[in-house]
Amino acid sequence: MTHDPNCLFCKIVHGTISSKKVYEDALVYAFHDIHPWAPVHFLLVPKVHIPSLAHLGPEHAALMGHMMTLAPKLALQEGCRPYPDGGFRIVSNTGAEGGQEVHHLHVHVMGGPRPWLRG
Ligand code: 5GP
Ligand code: ZN
Repeated sequence: MTHDPNCLFCKIVHGTISSKKVYEDALVYAFHDIHPWAPVHFLLVPKVHIPSLAHLGPEHAALMGHMMTLAPKLALQEGCRPYPDGGFRIVSNTGAEGGQEVHHLHVHVMGGPRPWLRG
């Protein structure tokens, strides 16, 4: 299934629920987290519905490579200072014990001056 009509992030990707867009291309969508933990906090998601990192197979390697090489560029674009004095944190909560609340694969990209609200 490429799209789950009951999934919050599928609705955000398709514009049914509004979001503050950070970036979009054919494969991914990035938007500001509604409850930011840090001065910079956005979510990067694949456009296709993949429930979590635990669902990845070899067919997703290019997509995940795209997300991981894109994230540092978007972090700088959104105001994170450069490595090594600046930087950012990437988190992908997976499953109940991993703290995942929305079951559409996403990476949190957080950064900016400390202290942060959480993390
Ligand atoms: P998880 O715990 O699944 O890794 O995190 C889900 C994240 O999605 C949370 O940080 C939460 O603030 C964010 N979130 C939940 N609902 C919405 C929403 O409707 N819009 C946006 N922009 N973020 C959301
Ligand atoms: Zn989804």
